[in-house]
Amino acid sequence: MQRPYNFSAGPAALPEEVLRQAAAEMLDWHGSGMSVMEMSHRGREFASIYEQAEADLRGLLAVPANFRILFMQGGGLAENAIVPMNLSRGGVVDVVVTGAWSQKSYKEAQRYAQARVAASNADDRHTRIPPPETWSLSPDASYVHVCTNETIHGVELHTLPDLAALGSKAPLVIDCSSHILSRAIDWSRVGLAFAGAQKNIGPAGLTLVFVRDDLLGHALPICPSAFDYKTVADNGSMYNTPPTYSIYIAGLVFQWLKAQREGAAAGVAAMEQRAIAKAGLLYGYLDGSEFYVTHVDPGSRSRMNIPFFLRDESLNDAFLAGAKERGLLQLKGHKSVGGMRASLYNAMPLAGVQALVAYMREFAARHG
Ligand code: PMP
Repeated sequence: MQRPYNFSAGPAALPEEVLRQAAAEMLDWHGSGMSVMEMSHRGREFASIYEQAEADLRGLLAVPANFRILFMQGGGLAENAIVPMNLSRGGVVDVVVTGAWSQKSYKEAQRYAQARVAASNADDRHTRIPPPETWSLSPDASYVHVCTNETIHGVELHTLPDLAALGSKAPLVIDCSSHILSRAIDWSRVGLAFAGAQKNIGPAGLTLVFVRDDLLGHALPICPSAFDYKTVADNGSMYNTPPTYSIYIAGLVFQWLKAQREGAAAGVAAMEQRAIAKAGLLYGYLDGSEFYVTHVDPGSRSRMNIPFFLRDESLNDAFLAGAKERGLLQLKGHKSVGGMRASLYNAMPLAGVQALVAYMREFAARHG
């Protein structure tokens, strides 16, 4: 039976193969007699799951040896506090405000550091990422925070800025929660990256942090030990109990990703090709339509989260009800933006976007 296509922004759809494997292994993982949920995080069985997941992730994203990968808890919003507690040294932090999530990062950083807005697209209603050449960066910032994909507003930074070329000596911190593993990351331009798992990685409860070695060991005294990156790194993410089941599912997703192919491309490169094709299909249809509209500037359009509107908003409920009948789920836009939003993460096949566009076309023909 064909499962519905789930366009949720997160927690989001997972590859069906992963869910089936997890179901098959639920009661007895690899003859251990235990569910992964029931294993000690320090036992041999879970250690093998953890090590495989970390190695696969490092390979998929080509993470250099001088970066540590931390498997933490707390989600993106906790990282908004954990990052300044670890990196700011109480000094100046530059934040680029591009939408709801970086706005929250800015507010939270103010509690621990002297946060400054280096650029903002609020006047454009968060529809366009300000070009990095226009960012006003502080000479003394301890880091520069950017959300590289704004899940609610649907804007994506397609090329990471070279901060040194822009006159800043600060490391770049990226919140890549909603597009991680959909494209390569240029680690030469990044000091720290974080991502909540519940969009493109696995179940909620796991937060990934990639941190360059030289940024460890500078936490403020108020930083909880379990959130001090050095403590977490020194203990192989086992200072406290990590979210073991979420790590296991993430590990299955990494194995699934490694097996994905698009022509000659594999893994994350294959995901990028697929994301370009999926997003291109939906934007292409929206651009040619008189019935629907999207407001995001073409150069800043997210491949992952696509907000769009019916020009006649009185038809919203009928649109959503019809979509649900056809097995097209969770298309309602975020309450702060309204309208619709289609999230096209890695687990969404091209066929799902084709089904969505076919439905949109039909709905427009019926009501246009
Ligand atoms: N950053 C981004 C880009 C997000 O999309 C989200 C969640 N939608 C968050 C941060 C916050 O994540 P959490 O709810 O896991 O704290």
